[in-house]
Parts: sequence; C-alpha cells; structure tokens
Amino acid sequence: MDAQTVTADAHALGGAGGSAAAPTFLEQLIEAGLLIPSGVLGLYGRSETFEAIAESLNRMVKRLGEDHHAETLRFPPAIGQHDFETSEYLKSFPQLAGTIHSFCGDDRGHRRLLARLEDKEDWTDQQQPTGVVLTPAACYPVYPVIARRGPLPPEGKIINVMSYCYRHEPSLEPTRMQLFRQHEFVCIGSPEQIIAFREMWMGRGQAAVQALGLPMELDVANDPFFGRGGKIVADSQRELKLKFELLIPVNDGLGPTACMSFNYHMDHFGALWDIRTADGGTAHTGCVGFGIERLTLALLKHHGLDPARWPQSVRDTLGGQ
Ligand code: AMP
Ligand code: ZN
Repeated sequence: MDAQTVTADAHALGGAGGSAAAPTFLEQLIEAGLLIPSGVLGLYGRSETFEAIAESLNRMVKRLGEDHHAETLRFPPAIGQHDFETSEYLKSFPQLAGTIHSFCGDDRGHRRLLARLEDKEDWTDQQQPTGVVLTPAACYPVYPVIARRGPLPPEGKIINVMSYCYRHEPSLEPTRMQLFRQHEFVCIGSPEQIIAFREMWMGRGQAAVQALGLPMELDVANDPFFGRGGKIVADSQRELKLKFELLIPVNDGLGPTACMSFNYHMDHFGALWDIRTADGGTAHTGCVGFGIERLTLALLKHHGLDPARWPQSVRDTLGGQ
C-alpha cells in the first residue's frame, strides 16, 4: 500500500459513511471515542478513558519492577542523529525509521515553499534534516548515557524508561501504530545478569497478564530485519532465542499480537557504545518492553469498551498499590 492509498483509507475511516458489515475493532474504538483518527493510519488521539487505562498500566509496570530499585530516566521521543547512527538501526530497520526535517531557508526559499503548497505540489524537498531522529525503541537513548558514565558497578545497572516511539508501519490494525509507548526495564551487566533478569521478567509478565484476565502465549520471536540479509539475522535471532514475546489475541481474524518483548542483545549495544563492566569487559544488555497501547487495546477487547464494567479483579490489578 503506498502512502497515498494509506491516507485515503484513513480518511475513509474518519469519515461519516459506514459499511453494512459488522464494525471492525478499530471502527468500534473510534465510534466509542477511545481512539481519535487523524487522517493518517496508525496516528491517533487518545481519549481520557484510554489514557487512564494507559496510565494505570504504566503504574502497574513500575510496581512490578519495584524491587530493582531501578534508576528512572525519561527522554523526549527523539534522539540525536549521531547516537542514532551509532545504534546501527539503519542497518536493520531502514523501513521503520523516522527523521525530523525542517525548513532552513531564506525568504526566497520560503516563497518557493509556499508556491509549492499553493500549487498542491510536493513541498517536503524544501526542508532539511535537523539532526533529530524519532526514537525507535524506548531503550535507545539509555545506552549512550550509561556509556558516558564509565564502567558499571559490579552489580550492573537497571534503568526504567518510558517513551513514545516512532515506527513507519502504517496499518489498519489498531495494534500497529506509528507512534506508541514502550515502557521498559533495561538491564546492563554480565551475560548471567541479563539472562536471569529476562527469565524473571518472563515470569512476571505472564503473571501480570493472567491477573489482568487476558489470554496469552509466550513464544520465541524475531524482529522484521530488512532485506535479504535481514532474513539470516532474523533466523539467527530465533535460533539463539534472543527475543521472546508475550502474545495476546486482539485483532479480528488475525493471529495474536505481541504485547511485551523480552530481549537479550548480547554485547551488541555494549560494543557499539563501548559500555564496560566493572572488570573492564564489554557489557551485555537486555530489556523487557511493555507495549502500553497494545495492552490497553487487549483490555478493551477482552473486557469491553467501558472500564467501569470490567471485572473487579482486573480493576484491582490495575489500581493496586
Ligand atoms: P519491540 O521493540 O519490537 O520488541 O516492541 C516492544 C513492544 O512494543 C511490543 O511487544 C509491542 O507491545 C509494542 N509495539 C511494537 N511495535 C508497535 C506498533 N507499531 N504499535 C504499537 N505497539 C507496538
Ligand atoms: Zn529495549
């Protein structure tokens, strides 16, 4: 689907006309005012109710990791171009990246820009890159910060981070957004520390989803690495069991959706940023990522569009101390 078709479809979605077929889950969410269409697929406003669920999930995630005494860091949803290049994201996922451009010209350039607009021609080539790139995953800003601090303490380091992330994957599935939140715990240390951290979170993630009254399955997964070479990387990621996902059925007529991921990056980020352990070795890293929008949508799908009518046990899990 090209960008224009996608935009046309999105307009249709936001439009008044309805079809005779049963409304899709996305149409129900829009009808109930939970998601507000923007005319672009995967870019939605959120209602107060949607946000209240998302916020209670965020608090639940923090409570789940309380015993880590993690350092909480928050970043705006963008990183500098230099850090973005260091991450090698473009090697693996060029199709998902989003860069910020801005008009940097003079009066003549401005007149050219306005003329293009006036003539309904493409005006975006009148902009220049700003050196700012949208955050592709919530943990990305963490690695350069920790690297700059010098060697890790012997017990390693755990960081809590939450951010809107951008991925260019326009879709009619409400679970596949272009801007969405990831709430993560990131563990940096020895391989043994990361493996133990990930094991523990796979248990905690499943227990939490069970307490939320949602069906689930846990499976090995792979990321959508780009191109022909990407297939080899994806196969190896699966074979080495570097990524597990917790999947919940959310979308009509489709397989279950990954709502959490449990990742072991080995020394990939440690080597790229030269993060050192206390004994001078290259640090290993791992992260557990909760997809806040997907979990919100899973709750709405399974317990109904009105949270006031959700089972008390679910409400307690979300609102507990
Ligand atoms: P990943 O970094 O791909 O492992 O993603 C971590 C989590 O973020 C996933 O398990 C999802 O819950 C969520 N996520 C990833 N991509 C999207 C998307 N396009 N829309 C909404 N949530 C997403
Ligand atoms: Zn991560």
